[in-house]
Amino acid sequence: MGRQIAVIGGGAAGMTAAIQAAGEGAAVTVYEKNDRVGKKILSTGNGRCNFSNEAMGAAFFHGSGTALLGGVLSAFGVAQTKAFFASLGMRIRERDGYLYPASDQASTVLDLLRYELDRRRVTVHTQEPVETVSFDRDRKKFLIRRQGKDFCYDAVILCCGGKAAPNTGSDGNGFRLAQRFGHRIVRPVPALAALVCKESFYKQVAGVRCDAALTLRVDGQEAGWERGELQLTDYGLSGIPAFQLCRTAAYAVLDKKPVTVHVSFLPDFDETSCGSFFRERLAAHGEDEMDVFLTGIVNKKVNRLLLKLSGIRETQRAKEVSVEAWQRLQGLYLGLETVVTGTNGFDKAQVCAGGVDCSEVTEALMSKKQPGLYFAGEILDIDGLCGGYNLQWAWSSGMVAGRAAARN
Ligand SMILES: Cc1cc2nc3c(=O)[nH]c(=O)nc-3n(C[C@H](O)[C@H](O)[C@H](O)COP(=O)(O)OP(=O)(O)OC[C@H]3O[C@@H](n4cnc5c(N)ncnc54)[C@H](O)[C@@H]3O)c2cc1C
Repeated sequence: MGRQIAVIGGGAAGMTAAIQAAGEGAAVTVYEKNDRVGKKILSTGNGRCNFSNEAMGAAFFHGSGTALLGGVLSAFGVAQTKAFFASLGMRIRERDGYLYPASDQASTVLDLLRYELDRRRVTVHTQEPVETVSFDRDRKKFLIRRQGKDFCYDAVILCCGGKAAPNTGSDGNGFRLAQRFGHRIVRPVPALAALVCKESFYKQVAGVRCDAALTLRVDGQEAGWERGELQLTDYGLSGIPAFQLCRTAAYAVLDKKPVTVHVSFLPDFDETSCGSFFRERLAAHGEDEMDVFLTGIVNKKVNRLLLKLSGIRETQRAKEVSVEAWQRLQGLYLGLETVVTGTNGFDKAQVCAGGVDCSEVTEALMSKKQPGLYFAGEILDIDGLCGGYNLQWAWSSGMVAGRAAARN
C-alpha cells in the first residue's frame, strides 16, 4: 500500500497536492473545514478564474520564497499547468497572456479538480477543521485528531492558505499549525487590497475609473510605481494599480512609516509636455470659464476636485487664472499627493503576504524542522502580483509538495 498522506485545506493548492500525491500511488485524505472544497476558486478573476499567466518568473512574486520559485516553477510551470488542465478536459482561453478557462467560469476549474479527486480516489472530509497536527516520534507518524480519535499519516501537507478572504475559510489558523512545529511566521498583511487614504475629498470622486499612474513613497523614498485603471472609492484608491502597491504600503504602515501615493491623472505627460498642453489649450479656449475649459481632459469629477484643491473657482475665466494657480493645478494633475493610512483589510484582500518563512523549507517544500511535513500555496511567505500568479503558485507548489510527499 502507498504512503498515507493527509492534506489539510482543500483549496487550490490542497486539491492539486492531493491529486498529484494520489497519482503517485499514495492514499490521500483531504481535510477541509468548509462544507465544500475550493470555495475561494469560485470568486477568482471576477468569477472567471485567471488561473495563470504566460509571462511568468520570480519577478512577479514577493516574499522569502522567491529563491524557491525558480525550482518550483521549472518543476511545474505554466506549460505543465496548461497541459494538466487540458488533460482534465478544460479548453483554455488566453487574453494578453492572462489564462482563463474557455468557459469563462471559475466553476469549471473547480469542477474538473473535484472530478479528478474522485477519479484518483482521494478521500475528502468536509466540515473537518483540523485543530492539531502532531508527530509521534515512537511510531514515526503524524497524528490528526478527529472525533476523539487519532488518525495516523506518513506525511502531512499544510495547505490552509493565509488570512485573505477569511469568508472562504483561510483565516490564518494554518499558521498556528505550522508554529507548533517551530516554524517562524513572517508577519501577514493584506497583499492585494485597496488602499485607505486620509483625505476627506474621496467622497466627491467615488466611483470614478480612470487611467492613472501611481507612485508609492515610503519615508519620502519611491517604493513602487504602477499604471493602470485606477478606481476611486469613498475611502481611497482601488483597482489593479493600487492592489499591486498594497503589500509594500501595508508593511510600511505596520512599521509606522509615512506612506504617500502620488496619483498622476495624466500619465502620458511630464511637466514640460503638460505645460505646453495647457498653454496651447489656453490660447484656444482662454475665454472659457475653468469648468468648461477643463472639460474633456479627464473625468469631470476629477477635474472639479483638482480645481477645488488648487483654489481656482469653477467660474473663473481661464485667461485670468494666475501663473501660480496654474502651476498648482498642473502639479495636481501630474501628482495628487494622498496619505495612505492602511489597507481595507484581510476581509477584502485577494491575497495575504507573509506566512511560513520559506528559509525553513526545502526545495521540495518540506519543513526543515519536521521531516514529512510539507507546505503548499498561500500559507508560505510568497505572494504574487495580480494576473494569475497566486493561483499558479498554488498549482505549482501543490504539485511539488504532493509529489515529494508521496515519493519520500
Ligand atoms: C476575490 C479573490 C479573487 C482572486 N482572483 C485571483 C485570480 O484571478 N488569479 C489568481 O491567480 N489568484 C486570485 N486570487 C488569489 C488565489 O485565489 C489564492 O492565492 C489561492 O486560491 C490560494 O490557494 P490556497 O490553496 O493556498 O489557499 P485557499 O484557497 O485559501 O485554501 C485554503 C483552504 O484551507 C481550508 N482550511 C484552512 N484551515 C483549515 C483547517 N485547520 N482544517 C481544514 N481546512 C482548513 C480553507 O477552508 C480553505 O478551503 C483571488 C483571491 C480572491 C479572494
